[in-house]
Amino acid sequence: MSKFWSAIVHELTPYVPGEQPKLTNLVKLNTNENPYGPSPKVLAALEAEVADSLRLYPDPTSAKLVQAVAKFYNVPATHVFVGNGSDEVLAHTFQALLKHDQPILFPDITYSFYPVYCGLYGIEYQTIALNDEFQIDVSDYKRPNGGIIFPNPNAPTGCGLPLAEIERLLEVNTESVVVVDEAYVDFGAESVVGLVARYPNLLVTHTMSKARSLAGLRVGYAIGQPPLIEALTRVKDSFNSYPLDRFAISGATAAIEDKAYFEETCRKVVATRQALVRELQALGFFVLPSVANFIFARHGKRSGDELAASLRARNIIVRHFSKPARISDFLRITIGTDVQSQALVEALKDILIH
Ligand SMILES: *Cc1c(COP(=O)(O)O)cnc(C)c1O
Repeated sequence: MSKFWSAIVHELTPYVPGEQPKLTNLVKLNTNENPYGPSPKVLAALEAEVADSLRLYPDPTSAKLVQAVAKFYNVPATHVFVGNGSDEVLAHTFQALLKHDQPILFPDITYSFYPVYCGLYGIEYQTIALNDEFQIDVSDYKRPNGGIIFPNPNAPTGCGLPLAEIERLLEVNTESVVVVDEAYVDFGAESVVGLVARYPNLLVTHTMSKARSLAGLRVGYAIGQPPLIEALTRVKDSFNSYPLDRFAISGATAAIEDKAYFEETCRKVVATRQALVRELQALGFFVLPSVANFIFARHGKRSGDELAASLRARNIIVRHFSKPARISDFLRITIGTDVQSQALVEALKDILIH
């Protein structure tokens, strides 16, 4: 605390990201990073950028990347906004599209950055409880609101919502923006990008951090109709003209263009996930059905706290949330390589026999 702080700083409750320990030889399954490197074409693009001129500012519109994203999704470039990680895209979204008189709605168990943005921008919110199966029930969102946001698949549960369910919500919720955070959609959920042309209040956000293995580059994007994109651009141009540097623009463009590499990596992660789920079930874990690059699982006989600590003692880090109580026995485990998965299973077997 300091008398130099502005009033809002006193009130903030910042987001706490999963740790990035300096230790080597860790099996790091705590922040949903991709175990595979980015496309080799990304590295080539970054090298070309070094040879080019870092003396000059980057393109403030990131036109090359916007075009590549538009082409990938077969949408007009006017439907695309890019930012410094999808966290920044989300921050602008909260400020530009979700701050209204009525509270916004999001699940009680979801990405914990949403309430943080509400605090930063002074946005009222109401959380809607996941049902007994830890699923989002769209009927619960049919009430007056200033906006709706949820990830699909949801985090940290990994559970996906069918496209038809989201459309059912869009059909009735026409007076406020619905944001679908598709950070993990490429690992098996259904994207709503195809609905953007029909729903002027739908905004879909994506990140290059997960399925495209570029968490270190910080690139995300949103897809929506031009009035929504314009709102984001107005906020961006009032905040930072150059959120994406030359490396981010070139590297992310190369990643989007290498569709074959992207599909192959996602396929490998999904195969490892399916195998891991079976192994964990055999060890007595209850695993929520996941369409993400992580799973959410609890053991019938051991607490989440204890399991996370025992894994840590064996150099394996997973994510554990002590709150709310309903999820305190779950572990959120990122899908790694098959070798990492095997190390996890062996460690759990060892922990469970003691
Ligand atoms: C990882 C994640 C993000 C943020 O992605 P960045 O592009 O790395 O900022 C956004 N939403 C959800 C649900 C995530 O899990």
